[in-house]
Amino acid sequence: MPIATVNPANGETLRTFDALDEQEIDRRISAAHRAFRVHRTTGFAERARLLNRAADLLDEDREDIARTMTLEMGKPLGAARAEAAKCAKAMRWYAAHAEHLLADEYPDEADVKDSGAARACVRYRPLGPVLAVMPWNFPLWQVMRFAAPALMAGNTGLLKHASNVPQTALYLEDLFSRAGYPEGCFQTLLIGSGAVEAVLRDPRVVAATLTGSEPAGRSVASVAGDEIKKTVLELGGSDPFLVLPSADVAGAARTAVTARTQNNGQSCIAAKRFIVHTDVYDEFAERFTAGMRALTVGDPMEDSTEVGPLSSERGRADLEELVDDAVRRGATVLCGGGRPEHLDGGLERGWFYTPTVLTGITPAMRIHREETFGPVATLYRVTGLDEAVELANDTSFGLSSNVWTRDEEEMDRCVRDLEAGGVFFNGMTASHPALPFGGVKRSGYGRELADHGIREFCNTTTVWYG
Ligand code: NAP
Repeated sequence: MPIATVNPANGETLRTFDALDEQEIDRRISAAHRAFRVHRTTGFAERARLLNRAADLLDEDREDIARTMTLEMGKPLGAARAEAAKCAKAMRWYAAHAEHLLADEYPDEADVKDSGAARACVRYRPLGPVLAVMPWNFPLWQVMRFAAPALMAGNTGLLKHASNVPQTALYLEDLFSRAGYPEGCFQTLLIGSGAVEAVLRDPRVVAATLTGSEPAGRSVASVAGDEIKKTVLELGGSDPFLVLPSADVAGAARTAVTARTQNNGQSCIAAKRFIVHTDVYDEFAERFTAGMRALTVGDPMEDSTEVGPLSSERGRADLEELVDDAVRRGATVLCGGGRPEHLDGGLERGWFYTPTVLTGITPAMRIHREETFGPVATLYRVTGLDEAVELANDTSFGLSSNVWTRDEEEMDRCVRDLEAGGVFFNGMTASHPALPFGGVKRSGYGRELADHGIREFCNTTTVWYG
């Protein structure tokens, strides 16, 4: 894939970039390694000062970087501004909490005595330069939820961003540099995916985190496994959205529209499969379909736009194939099902897809098993909670889940039985710095955010005094 900014709203190539050569990659890994030796010894107060400064700069830059993100990957401008604001908030959260999250831990005195020690503790120490392989869909947020905790822990970061968001990737390096981080603490490597293996095998790079697709995760994890290096994987999702008889159906339908179409439908934690109890199915289907049909599809730079283009021509083609396969095998299209016809002024060349609801889904259809990365929802009717949970778990993914019910017993049952890294009741899945984020099954392993996230790239060190 060329490293380039191509506007998904009209297909125009705006800037292309050369990939770094081997010498420059080596120079940057060296810088990361050198910077680590110093950064690991700085105190939390100094690390917090730098991260807070970067957050302030990001706030000042919000409008410009939001426009860059929208230009590069097509999310509506308002959502891009909100993403930048969310990053600044997470940076301040980690600046404020890292020292506490990584404070020494003291086991029970009786256990310490039993181990033969006079005293003992656990200390979280940084690991070194960490490679972050990141996707384009939340081009600031995905990076920041790695970078903020990693830098606070005393690690240094090497970012290999998706090839279609090079300007956002370069902005991030510049942001940390302007905030005063010493050279090498956070760098962007403009490289294609083929160059990742060599970086990961470099002995100076100690670990990797990857957010992206299953094949990319498998590839990076295999290399890291071969090198015995720690990885965190945040991969795809096909989150269920259950609506049970006691639900606020109108609220569920309104939230379902947002949960499916946020970020033009390209979110790993978007609700993708809507599993609705037969008692409330007709009302939900009508409200949800009406909401999806009413969305404004258009230029992502316009404030009135709710759904912009998909990020790439390939992404739209993949989605079209999934929908066409389902329709060929008997699915019913309740709304959408193709490209919008009303666009002009260059937008007709963009990679838009109309918000779509499909029903009559069967296991023979690809869409039943595969992730839909765009504004396409599948709607299922079930007759009870057992059937709903079974269907919800009938996927290779396990990122998050959403359940609408007012019944406490049903809630307990869902927390016990849903195979996912999150269960969100009467709302939609969203990330927050204080709540761990991650999945099970093919959605990956490890956690980002909260105390779990900052400890992923730490050496949990046992300190024992005889
Ligand atoms: P992708 O193709 O896997 O790309 C993600 C990153 O991995 C990019 O930087 C890409 O570089 C790189 N990459 C791709 N193949 C690689 C390989 N074989 N070895 C090393 N690096 C490789 O994913 P995408 O299509 O951009 O993003 C969509 C996917 O990400 C969806 O499945 C979505 O659910 C998932 N996602 C998950 C989360 C989460 O938190 N769980 C969040 C967001 C997205 P190039 O761009 O140069 O190819």
